[in-house]
Amino acid sequence: MSTATVIGGGPAGLFAAETLARAGVDVTVHERKPSPGRRFLLAGHGGLNITHSEPRAPFLTRYGSSADRIAPMLERFGPDDLRAWCAELGEPTFVGSSGRVFPQAFRATPLFRAWLSRLGELGVRLERRSQWCEWDPEGRVLIADATGNTRAVETDVTVFALGGASWPHLGADGAWVGPFRERGVGVTELRPANVGLRVAWSDVFVERFAGAPLKNVSLSVRGSGAAPQRGDAMLTRTGIEGGPVYASGAAVRAALDAAASEGAPCVLEVDLRPDLDADQLRRRLERRRPKDSASTWLRRAVGLDPTSIGLLREADGGALPTEATEMAALIKAVPVTITDTMPIDRAISTAGGIAWSEVDEHLMLRRMPGTFVAGEMLDWEAPTGGYLLQASFSMGAWAADGALAWLGSDAAP
Ligand SMILES: Cc1cc2nc3c(=O)[nH]c(=O)nc-3n(C[C@H](O)[C@H](O)[C@H](O)COP(=O)(O)OP(=O)(O)OC[C@H]3O[C@@H](n4cnc5c(N)ncnc54)[C@H](O)[C@@H]3O)c2cc1C
Repeated sequence: MSTATVIGGGPAGLFAAETLARAGVDVTVHERKPSPGRRFLLAGHGGLNITHSEPRAPFLTRYGSSADRIAPMLERFGPDDLRAWCAELGEPTFVGSSGRVFPQAFRATPLFRAWLSRLGELGVRLERRSQWCEWDPEGRVLIADATGNTRAVETDVTVFALGGASWPHLGADGAWVGPFRERGVGVTELRPANVGLRVAWSDVFVERFAGAPLKNVSLSVRGSGAAPQRGDAMLTRTGIEGGPVYASGAAVRAALDAAASEGAPCVLEVDLRPDLDADQLRRRLERRRPKDSASTWLRRAVGLDPTSIGLLREADGGALPTEATEMAALIKAVPVTITDTMPIDRAISTAGGIAWSEVDEHLMLRRMPGTFVAGEMLDWEAPTGGYLLQASFSMGAWAADGALAWLGSDAAP
């Protein structure tokens, strides 16, 4: 019987383990924490958004420049397969109003418990408090147990699924980057993704508007050419967060890099009325009654709420344009200067990771035949909406298939 060592007990690793065990491989999973799947379980706290129901073409665009690499993996194990898998585990799913898919229980715990018991039935051994450290000179993985004793593991095939570096106390802390780089594997810097942005709001603005939503706005990163992102954003004491902010992440990081090297600030432009163009806004704003204060004018003419008006004032240093054309232009692109992202340990996911050029079409490391990688440790990113977990599962299945193909090939030990 062939043996497989899976390192990392998150969704990518456990799904690779399940796929390998179903094919009759003797699988051991090593998880450094006392229990596996901590990030998966945390994801379930706000309602486990496991995948998305949108059609294949828009679904794929969520993976940006990695879409071509991920496309076949979604064919292999896509959103419908993931939903069927949940149902088989006794947790059917439903499509929420935004097209996001959730287990009916909404939480992750019942699904995860059923999954662990299935893995047990399939004969998968789960070694907890079992941490991969590096490789020994013969290329074997070195595993440390809870007491710190280290041993080399003999295995026919290895799948690494160590995650990124966000929420490090849950297990994935990016410590793997060093040893992988030492072996010559190209790893792009790990950076926060799906993360809030820092803004130096004035004290007055924070006192009044921290915690308030900006409803149905459209966000663009000035000069980036990236598609505007629409949805509800949330103002915080230290900046701004929410779906469209997270979805602007890659463009923001690029603009912050440019700001650091060239000095031009990173500016997020907030369109407060994305359903009206500047000309429509201007025409409405021209109907100002002489006695109207600025707030009344903006509320009556274009329906802005106090938070939106507060943001206009903040952007303009307190004063507001009095002329309709100027005001329309400001409403369409309120400039908000971004000073930084929030730190990676508060990010929902990680951008960067093992470069695609380092793996073959089966997710096997070119420099280490028989060693596969899956999940967030690879260099891809996606917005929230179920795309992260979906890709982690799909990559787990894909890497396991690759491992099986390799085990059956002449190259295998
Ligand atoms: C607050 C929050 C909410 C989220 N909500 C959603 C959501 O609703 N929908 C969605 O699609 N995604 C969501 N995500 C993202 C999703 O959880 C991740 O994309 C996904 O868990 C990545 O899976 P993975 O298996 O690649 O990595 P991980 O889940 O991070 O698993 C990696 C595992 O490897 C272990 N490990 C690391 N190093 C070692 C080592 N040296 N030895 C042994 N084990 C090791 C870790 O302990 C961990 O268990 C959320 C994330 C967060 C933080």
